[in-house]
Amino acid sequence: MTKKFDLFVIGGGSGGVRAARVASSKGMKVGLAEGWSLGGTCVNRGCVPKKLYSYSSHFSEDIELMSSFGWSVSKKKFSWNKLVQNKKKEIKRLSQIYNSLLANSGVEIFSGFAEFLDSESIKIGKKTIQSKNFLIAVGTQPNRLNFKASKEIVTSDEAFDLKSLPKKILILGGGYIAVEFAAIFNGLGVNTTICIRREKVLKGFDDDVVDQLTIQMKEKGIKIISNDFPQEISKKNNLFDVKYKRNKSEKFNLVMEATGRSPNIERLNLEKIKIKLSKKSSIIVNDYFETSCKNIYAIGDVIDRIQLTPVAIAEAMILVNNLTKKKKEKFKYNNVPSAVFSNPNYAYVGFTETEAKKKYKKIEIFTSSFRPLRFSLSKKKEKVFIKLIVNSQNNKVIGLHYLGEHAAEIVQGFSVAIVNGLTKKAFDKTIGIHPTSAEEVVTMKK
Ligand code: NDP
Repeated sequence: MTKKFDLFVIGGGSGGVRAARVASSKGMKVGLAEGWSLGGTCVNRGCVPKKLYSYSSHFSEDIELMSSFGWSVSKKKFSWNKLVQNKKKEIKRLSQIYNSLLANSGVEIFSGFAEFLDSESIKIGKKTIQSKNFLIAVGTQPNRLNFKASKEIVTSDEAFDLKSLPKKILILGGGYIAVEFAAIFNGLGVNTTICIRREKVLKGFDDDVVDQLTIQMKEKGIKIISNDFPQEISKKNNLFDVKYKRNKSEKFNLVMEATGRSPNIERLNLEKIKIKLSKKSSIIVNDYFETSCKNIYAIGDVIDRIQLTPVAIAEAMILVNNLTKKKKEKFKYNNVPSAVFSNPNYAYVGFTETEAKKKYKKIEIFTSSFRPLRFSLSKKKEKVFIKLIVNSQNNKVIGLHYLGEHAAEIVQGFSVAIVNGLTKKAFDKTIGIHPTSAEEVVTMKK
């Protein structure tokens, strides 16, 4: 039997689900297909489990800190299995919420992978579905490198559900995922090494903050092998044997690849609709998320603009509004706040110093580095590092970078000021809340 829809969404991640719900609330007949679990990467294999594991990994340091405040904990024991099981329960609960949100808003859900037959019809299993419009929101999957032991090398997809915690891990890559997982494994007591082909981790982030973070990661025991990469990885007697291009070879219990992500497009049969793809196989869209095929749209990680959940959700809202309004709106990609849940956390909004120097004639930089009060009774060396970037011509704050506990919570609040073009004078006029670490942001002096 053929079903007809006004909008059919392929992919039940954050962007797809939001688009489907909003479109349905506007009176469209909407269907959605998801081949795995509703919630997509963010809920099932990304942001949510990552943040839960990040919380878990911080307790090892918190226990040390407790003793500086007079508390003693007699037994320090961690169960990986309990963390994995509790995470699974929570993810299942969230996925069910997504399911009922969609169902309650009148969206028809199809379980399975969609394949295009032509620009107005798809196939899911044995069902054929027709729709006036399609939205592709299928996200991405981890890239894989080619080593002898590739089958046994894990990615972030598998790392959340390892049967047991390894003693010693090598993480390949130095982006968001590598740095976040290094913090998680290190905090859980795993001997952790990152290996990157360049000099520094976190390409494109502010250099000074990256340097400060690197120092603190090393102080916490994470090893970083720079300007090198494995030439060969094989597995013998349950151990990965890693031969580097420059360094000596080394053995690990586990190797994880975190070397970027690629669009999940293989199953879509895009050849049938001749959609234009970029060199990296992401779907090319214009300012209104229109692909080269008139009635087919794409949003989220698969279009590779900014691969973040809140961006996909914002794109979904704009797209659906555009479908129902005469005057189309564009999404502004500047000033998207973001955080790396490293240890310590790093969050930012606006430009890096390098970007600001390229864009503006004259900028002012304010920095502050200090040991927060919470650590003052302990031997913990961790410092907060803050950088504020100001456009000298109009005094507007154009960048805030914060390295330290709760960085993401703090920067989220200050983002409102920066997104709305507030000046350094406006920051200075604001009274700090004392004693906090965030008060430094409004008291920065040269
Ligand atoms: P990133 O693009 O952030 O980092 C990829 C890393 O892998 C880089 O260090 C890169 O090195 C390296 N790399 C890529 N290809 C190779 C190769 N062939 N050989 C060796 N090294 C290689 O990707 P991630 O996988 O970490 O994350 C993907 C996206 O997911 C991010 O861009 C982000 O948008 C999103 N994300 C967001 C999070 C958050 O908001 N907290 C958390 C996790 C993910 P080089 O720098 O040399 O290119």
